[in-house]
Amino acid sequence: MKIGVISADIAHENRVALTPDAVRKLRKFGFEVMVQSGAGQAAYYSDDSYQAAGAMIASSGADVIANAQIITTVQDLPTTIMDSLISGQIVIGMLDPYRNTQLETYAEKGVTAFAMELLPRTLSRAQNMDVLSSQANLAGYKAVLLAANEYTRPFPMFMTSAGTVKPAKVVILGVGVAGLQAIATAKRLGAVVEASDLRPDAKEQVESLGGKWLDVPMSADEAQKAKATGGYAWIPSEQYIKDQAAVVDKAVTAADIVITTAQIPGRQAPRLVHQATIVKMKAGSVLIDMAAGTGGNVEGSVADETITTENGVRIVGASNIPSMLAAQASDFYANNLLNVITTLISTDNNNSCDNPSTNSLSININMKDEIQGALAVTHEGQVRIAKR
Ligand code: NAD
Repeated sequence: MKIGVISADIAHENRVALTPDAVRKLRKFGFEVMVQSGAGQAAYYSDDSYQAAGAMIASSGADVIANAQIITTVQDLPTTIMDSLISGQIVIGMLDPYRNTQLETYAEKGVTAFAMELLPRTLSRAQNMDVLSSQANLAGYKAVLLAANEYTRPFPMFMTSAGTVKPAKVVILGVGVAGLQAIATAKRLGAVVEASDLRPDAKEQVESLGGKWLDVPMSADEAQKAKATGGYAWIPSEQYIKDQAAVVDKAVTAADIVITTAQIPGRQAPRLVHQATIVKMKAGSVLIDMAAGTGGNVEGSVADETITTENGVRIVGASNIPSMLAAQASDFYANNLLNVITTLISTDNNNSCDNPSTNSLSININMKDEIQGALAVTHEGQVRIAKR
């Protein structure tokens, strides 16, 4: 049984799906692994390091596809190799399921495609497979460093003979996994942090990290709606959006750094910071829009570009921050994939990559399994997900 690793042939993507360490674990488990030459290069994993871990190196993605039963990738497969897919193969990656235009092709080819973003995150046995969390954690940390790099003053309070510096004021909008890590990182750097989220539950988390909660008034009806989503984002009313805009306007106008992380899976990111606010911000202040790749939380942000407004505000449109920490992000991602692959293995004994058993290694695709069933966007010729 062979597992393949395809090189990400996409701008701003430096991660690789499996690392040499993951290859070692899969080899112990009884798999063979074939890695496209150069796949790990941008994350500082050389072909030699994969070979030392027991992998074979293939000269092209098509070669990997011609040989592997399970194909791992970071993002969707390059269109140029879709034709090489063979019926019965499994593709596992962050396939951007709601915007993916190749799902019909996967289905027509008879491929089972697993989109890692669809993991049922509340299942405790799925937590070590949660790529959204593993990548967002790193992204939240790095977003603060990006901001610190763009900002022309220090974050912490400085008391020197040349003068005293007040701590930077940081506002974080959207306090999921990335937002919480951004709060923790900004606090560690000595900033004063304020944060807000649609989810009232986030207040306690913000405060436990030493941040100040920016409260948006919520009607009883909305509070009920927020509760009913079980801790996930809900669609806010026009009144809430108006009240939120007023709170955001006041906080962002006074801020030195703003980091926005608000996303709604499968939908356009909500617009949280408007031009009318940006024109009131101080020259030299910095906005990091982590949702720039899905429509942007910040009006005027451009994915993968940094722009300076007429009033001197730097807007960083970062669409793939985890890729900037490619080595660590690949380690986490590979561990998440290993744990998904584990669910596919039928063995007589224990199925854990850390506790390998090579007895009768075979793959068992089971749509009744709550993890596999949720991840599979195509299976047996069918597309299993509706576009949003
Ligand atoms: P995300 O990346 O989808 O979004 C980031 C944050 O933006 C979320 O907290 C969301 O509520 C917020 N947001 C969305 N629209 C907004 C708006 N209009 N205004 C303000 N904020 C807005 O989020 P995530 O980091 O993937 O986490 C989403 C949820 O999943 C959180 O509730 C998190 O606690 C939960 N989660 C649960 C588990 C688990 O149960 N094991 C694991 C990870 C995350």
